[in-house]
Amino acid sequence: MVSITADILISGGLLVSGTSITKMDVVVTGEKITDLLPHPSNIDAKRIIDAKGLYVLPGLIDAHNHPINLDKMDSFTLSAAFGGITTVIPFMQNMRSRGIDGTTSETIDRFIEESNEISYLDFGVHAILFGDDDVEIEVPKLIENGIISFKMYMTYPRRGMMMPDDRMLKAMSLASEAGGIAMVHAENGYCIDFLTDNFIDEGLTSREYYAKSQPRILEVEAANRAATYASVTDCPLYVVHLSAREVLDVLRGYREEGNYVFTETCPQYLDLTNETLMEHGALAKIGPPLRERADNAAMWEGLQNNIIDTIASDFCGFSKAHKYAGG
Ligand SMILES: [Zn+2]
Repeated sequence: MVSITADILISGGLLVSGTSITKMDVVVTGEKITDLLPHPSNIDAKRIIDAKGLYVLPGLIDAHNHPINLDKMDSFTLSAAFGGITTVIPFMQNMRSRGIDGTTSETIDRFIEESNEISYLDFGVHAILFGDDDVEIEVPKLIENGIISFKMYMTYPRRGMMMPDDRMLKAMSLASEAGGIAMVHAENGYCIDFLTDNFIDEGLTSREYYAKSQPRILEVEAANRAATYASVTDCPLYVVHLSAREVLDVLRGYREEGNYVFTETCPQYLDLTNETLMEHGALAKIGPPLRERADNAAMWEGLQNNIIDTIASDFCGFSKAHKYAGG
């Protein structure tokens, strides 16, 4: 018996590090991991957690989520903690469409104040800038306040969410100057509305037309356009929730030219296909839409080849009634 007495010994689990998965014992003293030892370590501890048959991971960061509908930071972070998440980075935006006054930076100030009271986990914040945000005021102000990342939508023009291209360029150039990073939801919103209108006019409104109204080419085009703008403005870019396999090669090209382009996908794009939507209808409607098995495979390959940097949940809690109301 080794003579160290630790507070906690996590014993016999499969320890997932950045480079390997090995059977190790984790020794915790106070609030710190003080040793990683081959199992069995025979360390004496006040509390021993038998992790045999389990994975032991460092605290996970969920870098993309929206606790603004049914959830606030209390219920959201509690459920995230049960999934092994220790830090979350929600997106916050101006709430004018919900009748709440204030700019995006003011909304974020309120969000931080409230979350400091109710969050169970550590958190950061990303901003979202909508078409009605004044980017020339908001971008420098957000970055000065420590909110260095902000997302812009290239779709949803009719919901007032889309950032026009000229404003996006301006926002990127301001971010570039101030040390920020732009994020985009890459889909061509005008084309989606055009195709959707056509299907509606023809009476083609059943679930099989959802994915057809937002085909993969619209994600490829928008990602390419955003990366072009980021390159022109010399702004780092993070493209959220990639779903279409062709996008990976497009963004890899920009990286190879020396641009700072970061990429994200989500569990739903790694595991689900349009078949799920055909089965469950409105409950499986997400944007970008669920695609094909070959896209799932490409996302896994992208992770293996380091073309994809992040897996994030894009959690956005709605009730069934909300989802069905969307049709
Ligand atoms: Zn999102």
